[in-house]
Amino acid sequence: MYRWKRLNTIRYLTLSIVLFGAFLGAPSTAQPQADDAHYQQQRILANQYYSDFNNAQAQEICRETPPKPDDFDYRFICVESLLDVDETTIELMYQFYADALEADRINDAARMLSSIGWAQASIGNISAAFATYEQGLEFGDKINFFVLNDLMLNTATLYIMYGDADYVAKGIQLHKETIERFKERKQSHPEDAAYSDRAITLTYFNLGVANAFHVHKYDEALEWFEKVDINRNDLRKSTLIFSALAAYKTQQLELARNYLQQADSSPHSNEIDTQYLDCYRDWLLLNWSEISGLPNCERLSANTPVEVELDLYKRIAQHADDNIRIIGLNGLHRLFVNKLEKSLKQSSTIAASNAELNRLTQESRLKSQLIENEKALKRAEQEKHESQVTLTFAITVILVMAVLLFALRLEKNRKLAQQFEQMSVHDALTGLYNRRYFEQQIGRELKLVKRAIEEKNPYELAIFVLDIDHFKSFNDTYGHDVGDKVLCEFSRRVESAIRETDMLVRWGGEEFVVVSRVDKNTAYQDIANRIRLAVRSTPFVVNKTEQVTLTCTLGGIIYPFNTQMFSATWQTLVQLADAALYYGKETQRDCWVCIEHIETEKALQLALTEPLVKTLPHKNIQVSRCND
Ligand code: GH3
Ligand code: MG
Ligand code: MG
Repeated sequence: MYRWKRLNTIRYLTLSIVLFGAFLGAPSTAQPQADDAHYQQQRILANQYYSDFNNAQAQEICRETPPKPDDFDYRFICVESLLDVDETTIELMYQFYADALEADRINDAARMLSSIGWAQASIGNISAAFATYEQGLEFGDKINFFVLNDLMLNTATLYIMYGDADYVAKGIQLHKETIERFKERKQSHPEDAAYSDRAITLTYFNLGVANAFHVHKYDEALEWFEKVDINRNDLRKSTLIFSALAAYKTQQLELARNYLQQADSSPHSNEIDTQYLDCYRDWLLLNWSEISGLPNCERLSANTPVEVELDLYKRIAQHADDNIRIIGLNGLHRLFVNKLEKSLKQSSTIAASNAELNRLTQESRLKSQLIENEKALKRAEQEKHESQVTLTFAITVILVMAVLLFALRLEKNRKLAQQFEQMSVHDALTGLYNRRYFEQQIGRELKLVKRAIEEKNPYELAIFVLDIDHFKSFNDTYGHDVGDKVLCEFSRRVESAIRETDMLVRWGGEEFVVVSRVDKNTAYQDIANRIRLAVRSTPFVVNKTEQVTLTCTLGGIIYPFNTQMFSATWQTLVQLADAALYYGKETQRDCWVCIEHIETEKALQLALTEPLVKTLPHKNIQVSRCND
């Protein structure tokens, strides 16, 4: 189904390339000595088992020949193939993560975060999983394209598996975007074409699953499944059987049969666990009255993912025939006792805050009522056939389950909404980047300046803080809504006055920050003047009859303002730009003021603690300003 192994497949594809050295370019320091042939052989063997989803064998090799601490590729397999996911496994994963960071193996660290998130989700700790992915995504373009994609896909998959309708839609959208990204990747990096094709077909498959099993849009599911490359051994059977199901659900019986026949006559597939696929197949044949029982559904293997069992047994439990229905209800009962009850307890323990406990108490009152009702039903039916008893009991279990699932889902959705909000790097009003984005990018920008100077290809950064003049009284006169519209228009104007490569963020309120690279061809004065002009030259429309001219003031700082001052933090730089802005506001407005040079550490301290108007006579601080 929408499966761990599916996403693992992406990881495995990445990993297998890493193991054989072509992916990250330079040979890693972690490669074992060439003379250690046995060790070398074992790690390759482990990789092969892992690739074939044979985790038990991979583990055996790992036990026999434990990976060296700095052999991150092999260590990755040994951690990833651990059979039971629990808190101990997650601790091991974190150990790997910490070691990889320490060894400056940032891609390894990030891909392990991807695994940790997935493991956390699989034991029901969804909010931790989101926090982990967020942490991973913060690496941004410092990590390689594939690892970043894996993190994004995992996040999107969680939306689909645990979100409400809106999040499912978002998750589906993110998957579609992934396909586009891989298509572009294929164009720009032909050497990655094989990997990209595999990732694309895998994403088609996942989109089919999302549509069929999460939003029940069988038409669309069918379209996605049709795009999957069924020559791939590890997707063929699932794709064909799910296609048959989707075709059946859209009344295309001939097509459904055709898919099923193809599945039957396909060569051997290497999917981990195909028993549940046989159960889907039985279920279809039963509906076509071609068989009378469900031989492959009576006991699904213990590895079957919960959502698959739930989907199958729910379908079967709705069948018209009592005997068939009992197979479904028994299955649901078993599923509840063996898996759901455990994981519900686990995840509710994790999620339980005081408020949540209160709410669960309320829910349990409701739950007891439901149980009471069902007991009455049960009593009335006790005389009936023995099978009917099982049926009633199972219904009770399902209702209890539904109530508990509902309670947990509410909590999860709330957390999802928070996570989504926290992950956003865009400002909701203007659509510009926000401060979070600035904080993620600025460190790298500063480092690049330093490197460019060291490599004798120097340029500088101009950081401007912009603030609209007298905006409070504008708001007071025309109202906050008009103020909001002006902020949007203001943003567009500033955007059009700067270059595409410059960074513009909404800092908060009516303050904005522009970061611009300046070299011998671009003078920062020109940028500041262009921004001022774009704002003041055309009045802002405030209503049908009135237009108002607005102006803004800019405070700026040039980085590095002294080649010894590379160590200045971005906070210091923004504080200095702010001091320049304040000076501009005090003395003129509708102007720009820029600190160009600070000679000494002492002068820097002075500029940070005293208003510029006082420190300017100081000859160690040089400031320029607009000349009108
Ligand atoms: P100054 O020239 O000194 O900057 O004067 P000012 O009135 O602009 O003063 P200040 O920058 O301190 O005031 C900011 C005002 O911006 C306060 C608030 O009314 C307005 N503002 C902040 N955020 C928003 C927003 O999101 N929408 C709207 N409409 N107004 C906002
Ligand atoms: Mg302000
Ligand atoms: Mg202002």
